[in-house]
Amino acid sequence: MQVEEAASPMQIFENLESEVRSYCRSFPTVFTRAKGYKLWNRDGDEYIDFFAGAGALNYGHNNPRLKEKLVEYIMEDGIAHSLDMATNAKEAFLKKFDEVILKPRNLEYKVMFPGPTGTNAVESALKLARKVTGRDKVISFTNAFHGMTIGSLSITGNAFKRKGAGIPLNNSYFMPFDNYVKGEDTTRYLERFLEDNGSGVDLPAAVILETVQGEGGINAASFEWLKKVEQICRRYNILLIVDDIQAGCGRTGTFFSFEPAGIEPDIVCLSKSIGGYGLPMAITLMKPELDVWEPGEHNGTFRGNNLAFVTATEALSYWENDSFSHEIQQKGEKITRHLKQIVEEFPQIKGEVRGRGLMQGIACGVDGLADKICEAAFQRGLIMETSGPDSEVAKLLPPLVIDEDGLERGLEILRESVAATVK
Ligand SMILES: *Cc1c(COP(=O)(O)O)cnc(C)c1O
Repeated sequence: MQVEEAASPMQIFENLESEVRSYCRSFPTVFTRAKGYKLWNRDGDEYIDFFAGAGALNYGHNNPRLKEKLVEYIMEDGIAHSLDMATNAKEAFLKKFDEVILKPRNLEYKVMFPGPTGTNAVESALKLARKVTGRDKVISFTNAFHGMTIGSLSITGNAFKRKGAGIPLNNSYFMPFDNYVKGEDTTRYLERFLEDNGSGVDLPAAVILETVQGEGGINAASFEWLKKVEQICRRYNILLIVDDIQAGCGRTGTFFSFEPAGIEPDIVCLSKSIGGYGLPMAITLMKPELDVWEPGEHNGTFRGNNLAFVTATEALSYWENDSFSHEIQQKGEKITRHLKQIVEEFPQIKGEVRGRGLMQGIACGVDGLADKICEAAFQRGLIMETSGPDSEVAKLLPPLVIDEDGLERGLEILRESVAATVK
């Protein structure tokens, strides 16, 4: 009898989708449904999601509050696409963003809608900083990730991603991020290069940073380091840009990741979870005096994703008081405790716990181990990715709305996966 070979569930993707596909290689199954922190594949297998669309699903999959507003809006034939014309949905978002986020934090920013992706927000921030200052260079940091278009790649550290540009990446300098040189205050390098006329480093338009480096290894800058970088920027009249695309929207416990550091960036980039429902949306915030754009000088067809404005507006309801923030911080502490236990229980992994809030990870001191841990986790129904220049960090990015039960089950699967990997 001829045994028919079972077709791989990934066959269509392998045949038709470009080799550039990536996450479907780490999670080789076909997903059909999702709710909150759970995903299901075609066979009905359940997965706990500790990846949350790389931080685009902070409020969980198909969040019921957001879904209700979205469905209601669609059923009323609300405007879906509007270029950057004025719409009800955009007005409601701007108003609520000002009332719930900016005003209570004493922040004054103008809001720009670039194209709907993170790299769009970064490109617009770079353009603006260059236009405002008339300078061309931008300083970024080791292991930074700012996106995949040319401008963003030029300030991204990862060699593999940079090589993809195919052209020289110019007009940027890299400085050591916090802790890049163990035990040293790396802001002293930054300052020395700026003050010394012989350093070869021109006065830049801007310094851009992530407070917690999402792709570059969950490196969390200390608040003191962030403050010092801000002071240096002020002293040299350099604009400070915070790329809060992954660490923002509550990921580290406060709406903006820089709040507890007490810094006030000149420009802030948000995307990923700003739309709230996984719908594409990005904004670039700038201090009002920096808003020197000519009308249409930065443009884009998909700046008016009104479906995202509707869910973004509802998502901001989570920030009307402090309780959501406290909840995230408590969950973050629970994760830290569990990760520290894992690192202690399995000294063979030479692990180090990194990150803040619901953006944490275990950096493994053994080559290839983090990848194996994530693979083992997937086999046990937990979705996690790696981070860092050598994929050395097993990274946890659960939806912020995950409940205690989901969090504990996910952490237990992670522990089992580490145990199985080192066995
Ligand atoms: C994801 C990310 C980007 C790029 O966003 P895209 O939507 O993928 O273009 C930029 N900066 C940071 C910190 C990110 O995490």
